[in-house]
Amino acid sequence: MSKHVEDSADYVVIGTGAGGATAARVLSATGASVILLEEGPSLAPEERALGLLDAMSQSLRDVATLATHSPAPMPLLLGRVVGGSTAVNSGIIWRLPDDVRAEWAAGHGLGELLEERALDAAFSRIEAELEIGEVAEDTRGGNGDLLKAGSDALGLTGRPIRRNARRCVGSARCLQGCPHGARQSMDISYVPRAIAQGARLHPLCRADRIELDRGRAGFVLGTQLTADARVACGTFRMHARRAVIVCAGAIHTPLLLWKSGVRKNVGEGYQAHPGAAVIGRFDHQVGMGFGATQAYEVPLRDRGMKIESISLPPELLAARLPGAGEEWQRSLRKLDYFAQFCAVIRMRARGRVRPSLFGSPQVRYEPLREDVATLKEGVALLVRLMFAAGAVEVLPGVAGVPERLTRAEQAELVLAEHVTRRDIHLMASHHFGTAAAGASPGHAVVDAQLQCHDVPGLYVMDASVFPSNLGVNPQHSIMAIAYRAAERLANVERPKLRSLPPPAAHASV
Ligand SMILES: Cc1cc2nc3c(=O)[nH]c(=O)nc-3n(C[C@H](O)[C@H](O)[C@H](O)COP(=O)(O)OP(=O)(O)OC[C@H]3O[C@@H](n4cnc5c(N)ncnc54)[C@H](O)[C@@H]3O)c2cc1C
Ligand code: SF4
Repeated sequence: MSKHVEDSADYVVIGTGAGGATAARVLSATGASVILLEEGPSLAPEERALGLLDAMSQSLRDVATLATHSPAPMPLLLGRVVGGSTAVNSGIIWRLPDDVRAEWAAGHGLGELLEERALDAAFSRIEAELEIGEVAEDTRGGNGDLLKAGSDALGLTGRPIRRNARRCVGSARCLQGCPHGARQSMDISYVPRAIAQGARLHPLCRADRIELDRGRAGFVLGTQLTADARVACGTFRMHARRAVIVCAGAIHTPLLLWKSGVRKNVGEGYQAHPGAAVIGRFDHQVGMGFGATQAYEVPLRDRGMKIESISLPPELLAARLPGAGEEWQRSLRKLDYFAQFCAVIRMRARGRVRPSLFGSPQVRYEPLREDVATLKEGVALLVRLMFAAGAVEVLPGVAGVPERLTRAEQAELVLAEHVTRRDIHLMASHHFGTAAAGASPGHAVVDAQLQCHDVPGLYVMDASVFPSNLGVNPQHSIMAIAYRAAERLANVERPKLRSLPPPAAHASV
């Protein structure tokens, strides 16, 4: 039966990912009332499905089938669950690089928002609250060990990844959501904390439109969804007395703004960190099923890329193996002997996000020629790293290159002129720039307070506001910038955050 819900608060926050949960955590700590709206379900760790496809269908938007509109579509991974993409991510933590901070301050007028001491304080507080630390040697796992061995052998500087998962037991299934509640994703940390501070969470509530109230953003209208988040079963109308804060992520925030009539510059400037992965077979068991999902990294920011170990669930690994029939079955028997590394590229290309005729996001994005050159260098390096780590064969997954390489020198084949963007399978899970922040209303969507240039009371606090990509994993920067923006919105530069008992492990409405 169709139902209708109405609620009212000082702030209505749309989306519970890195940006939304952090904004709610800061605002609710000031004593303000906060409503948190989330399209996806609220899942306790023990409610997460064990099978890969079931888990992906629970927590990933469109079961990971959303992709760019292109002759070579690039899948776009997004969480759609309480906690947003943080609920399914690998927990990698990096602060905003200094050169990006300087560029945004000087080139986009964001100096006050990014003021060094205040932003550093936000980073430090988040690091303390989300239990951030390096992956311990005993949970690095075979995959991480091999990337370390390969990078040491090639003379590259690698390091254990810093993550928000100090209690990780190495079950290598972050993509399915941590079943142990070990990773301090937003559903485990800031959402329950905001609720403990009085915030009201409405899961399975999709915001469809923002309406004005006496010239300010005042109402959020939307649809209630059934438990699988697929079928409409009601409507809602939420009243925001002070502000509406959109944190639906860089693909869906522009959609919501566009549908609400806010269109100037919206959806332009989409950027990503697309990545490609290579698998290698070893003559000994690697055991990708044990270890932190991502445990070791080789940052090569000056070369426009970052190399990471990334464990693959067996179902996805099996799907990556070439061949058919008996050949495929032989490979299947060796599943435990494979390792996987990926290269994540800081691409310069910019794309655009718009609603399609049916209201879903249409993302146009094509890597530039220089991006493809960096990508090919990255994939060739992955091949060399695998052999340097002792692989007996490497499967680059690049069309036009032999399926199985047996010597390190064959890495050069990936660099051949005939290898193009279409030959390399890309995927992106870091999205930016579709409601960019900047002092100039001519170029940006939101100002240095992250308030829409054109609509008072309407704020954006997620990865959409980043004027560019970063070249490092973004969740920490998103949280810190949302933290600062929420502090400034509440007009409490040094908020006296109420001293609270530790939040419950899980909470929902
Ligand atoms: C598989 C994967 C692995 C990753 N690994 C890492 C990593 O290790 N380290 C790192 O730094 N980053 C990682 N990322 C990226 C990181 O998680 C994101 O950059 C970050 O979470 C984005 O924050 P956000 O607030 O912009 O959006 P999100 O965290 O995506 O949150 C947006 C939320 O808004 C909700 N929403 C959307 N539209 C509506 C609507 N209309 N109404 C209500 N709710 C709505 C969505 O369901 C979602 O929950 C990864 C991402 C993925 C997908
Ligand atoms: S590797 Fe396993 S235990 Fe560790 S954070 Fe990821 S899902 Fe949780």
